[in-house]
Amino acid sequence: MGCCGKVGQIVDGYTRLVTDTVRITRRYEFADSCIRECQKCDKRYWIARSLWCSLCKCFVPAAARAKDKNCPLDKPAWKKKRLKREQELLKTTNKGDNND
Ligand code: SF4
Repeated sequence: MGCCGKVGQIVDGYTRLVTDTVRITRRYEFADSCIRECQKCDKRYWIARSLWCSLCKCFVPAAARAKDKNCPLDKPAWKKKRLKREQELLKTTNKGDNND
């Protein structure tokens, strides 16, 4: 992935983190399970009280909320998130095919 994709994921993740925190929108369904997965992972590290991934170098609470962000190890909670995203993309693609 190029740097533009990574920047998009960062913006997406931080935007969802802020809206979740101030409860503007419905809570992102995969955030809590992905964060719990990271808390148990041996690739995580803490800076002060902030949780980070040593493989992707991401701030986990934001990464867990970014739709297109995946776990480098494809851990189960993250895999669920990725599979749901892929299903949504497939549905969108199939809808586009029906319009032809
Ligand atoms: S994103 Fe994946 S590899 Fe990184 S800390 Fe979380 S579970 Fe571990």
